[in-house]
Formats: sequence, structure tokens, C-alpha cells
Amino acid sequence: MSKLILAVLLVTLTVLGLLSPSYADSARVNDARVWPAPDGSRLIFDLNQSLKYKVFRLSNPERVVIDFKKTRLLTRLKSLDLSKSSIKRIRSGKRNGKDLRIVLDMKETVSPKSALLRPNSEYGFRLVLDLDRVKQKSHRSLESRLTQQKNKENQDIVVAIDAGHGGEDPGARGRRGTKEKDIVLKIARELKRMFDQQKGMKGVLIRSGDYYLDLRKRMKIARQHRADFFISIHADAFHDPRARGSSVYSLSSRGENSEAARWLAKKANNADLIGGVQLANKDDMVASMLLDMAQSATRKASYKAARNILHELKGVGKVHSKTVQSASFVVLKSPDIPSVLVETAYISNPSEEKKLQTKTYQKAIAKAIFNGVYRYFNRSPPTGSLLARNRHTIAQGETLGEIALYYRVSIKKLKVANNLRSDKIISGQVLRIPIDSTQPKAI
Ligand SMILES: [Zn+2]
Repeated sequence: MSKLILAVLLVTLTVLGLLSPSYADSARVNDARVWPAPDGSRLIFDLNQSLKYKVFRLSNPERVVIDFKKTRLLTRLKSLDLSKSSIKRIRSGKRNGKDLRIVLDMKETVSPKSALLRPNSEYGFRLVLDLDRVKQKSHRSLESRLTQQKNKENQDIVVAIDAGHGGEDPGARGRRGTKEKDIVLKIARELKRMFDQQKGMKGVLIRSGDYYLDLRKRMKIARQHRADFFISIHADAFHDPRARGSSVYSLSSRGENSEAARWLAKKANNADLIGGVQLANKDDMVASMLLDMAQSATRKASYKAARNILHELKGVGKVHSKTVQSASFVVLKSPDIPSVLVETAYISNPSEEKKLQTKTYQKAIAKAIFNGVYRYFNRSPPTGSLLARNRHTIAQGETLGEIALYYRVSIKKLKVANNLRSDKIISGQVLRIPIDSTQPKAI
């Protein structure tokens, strides 16, 4: 047999895995990361190749065991910061001479879920392990349910603020190294503060730290908080560094209306592939069935709100497109909650990246989004909300000055809130009374 044929045969046998393991290179765990989140932790192992593994749980004390077949550990697990995670300690050892066993000593009971991910633009092969905290089911008392019913009167309008990406998924990156996930979280926090200060409204952060949530989970959290509105905040990149300005998107039934929208939707929807796993469950199927039925009204509301936000953003700086863009973002597909996605700026544009890093710009963007959402709800307040209550039907002989005095608002504010050009009002006309957070409630 010639040397060449022998070499070919050897390679073939190695590829087929027919030779003894000592010939074939074993798999390697090159690195590990842990991302603590409120509902549990995510542990990620960077691998050099696909491999066989098994995950199981042991109780008394709580442990999660990961067995890697024919694998070597090339990283120091002891250097991982576990302080905020649900893991107490990580141990590792060899098994059967060539297998690797990693044992996680847990601080609490978790239900582990795992997936082996193929390489993508950001990472190579990874084993993702979600350690979700097992919640004790609590039965709400009749009393607490009744209180909740009663509280529906004058309830706050809840705005769910979703900072895109997070944790394993950095989002887009600017040339100076600014990460989208960090900037959008800062804007989201600013925005929450503004909603919380506004009487009759409340902001809820979908992601409050540096961890990843899959897109369906984001919507689920919004629903748990009974959100009236959902805003997803991004600062994405485009392949052309000249692209700049902010854009506002709402969900479309017909798909994207521009090349950029198509490109971004594809990227945003792929985020789950970068961020980790999306384990399908039955609820999602039900949700997608309900989607088409309830979507129409929600879609109209989303579009109206998006227009208000876009209008406000025009006051901050350049807008990328003058009209509301439509795209099929998964994160906007809540059947029951009007949702918009705001591209605050292009992080891929060097001058916009610079601006995004400043507190002033972050605040200005947050303020514009706040104003847009507030304006939308001031015009179409949900029934039962404080904003809906603040309506005044003009009686015969009443003047704008009297009404302003009665509600302790300025005539100017009253006119702005109602788009009045003059002081003339007609009896029977319904006025919106702006709610001032600094004034005591007049009614
Ligand atoms: Zn993004």
C-alpha cells in the first residue's frame, strides 16, 4: 500500500470514528460563562466541536451533573464568579479515563434545560444550560383577587420597557466597542424613571440587568405585569456605516416595507440563536393561534403610538425614515399588547455611536419616547385608567380659564393637551385634563 493510500485510509477511519479514541482528538471545553438572571442562571460552555453529553439532577443536596463524552476541560471553572447565580460551587473530574464530569452544587432547587448550539456569527459550538428556579405554586386568596379587582379603578397604565439583547447576546457593536445591550439598558432605565414619575403611569423593566431573555419570555413578562404597552429598545447596526437616525417599527401583517426593515427583523429574530435556546412549549402554539385573531386591533393601536413616538424623535435629531416602518419582529407579536420597536440610532455610525454614549443623548431619546407614549395614551386612555378619568365635559357658560383653575393646570397646558388654537370652547365638548406629576390631584 502506498503512503498516500495509507494516509487517505487513516483520515477516513478517523473521520468515521472507527479508530480507537486515542487517535481521534477528544472534544474540549475551552471556556465557560455564567449569566445570573432573576429567574435562575444560564451557564454556557464554549466547545471546540459538537459532542455527546448528558445532564441530570440529584437531590439532597441539590446538584446538577453534566457528563461530557470524551472531553477535556481546558478552562479553570474555579475562576467563574458565582456570587449572584444559583450555583454554590462547581467541581469537575475525569470519568472512565476520557470522559468529563462537571458537578454544580446548587443554592436552590432548579430545573435544568440544555441545548447544544451550532456556531453562529458571534460564537462557536456551545452547550447552553438554563438553571431555572423551581417556583412554589401559590394559590392566591379570594381576598387578594378582590383587592385586585377593586384596584382596577384608577389603575396605572403599565408600560413594559424591553432593553434588547443582553448577557450572551451583545447586540450590535460600534467601532469604539460600544455594545448595544449596555446602551439600551441605560435608556430603558431612564425611561422607566420617567414613567414612574408620571402620575397614572408606571414603567416595568423586562430585563433589569445583563442577562439574556428569549423573545417569548420577554412578552410573557410583559403579560405578567398586565402591561398596556410594550416598547422594545435597540440601537442596531447596518452594513452601511453611513446609515443614521432613529426609526420606529410596528408589526406588519404584510412583512417589511424596506430593505433595512427586512434586514433588522431577520437579525432581531435571530437573536435567540445567539442569545441561547428557545424551548418550544404548548403555550406558544396557543399564542400563535390567538395571534391572528386579536392582532388587528392591537396592530392599529401600535401604529398610532409608533407615529406619536416618531413625531417626538424628530425633535431630538435625524430620523432614518419619516414614516413608521413595519417589520415582522417576533418581539412585537403580542396579540394583546400594542407593541413598538424603537431603533434609537445606528451604533454602526461613528458619530451616532459617540452620541449614544452620552447621558444627555440617552435622556433625550428616553424623553422623546416617553412623550410619544404619553401623548398616545392621553388621546386613547384604557378604560379604568387614571388618564381616562381625567375628562371634563364642558357645561354651558364655562370658560377655559375657569376649567384650568378648577383642575389646577395652566391654560397653556390645557390647550396643548387638546390641540386648541384659541380659548374658544363649546358646551358639550370633552376636554382632556393633563395630569401634572408635580401638582396635587384636583379631582
Ligand atoms: Zn438590537
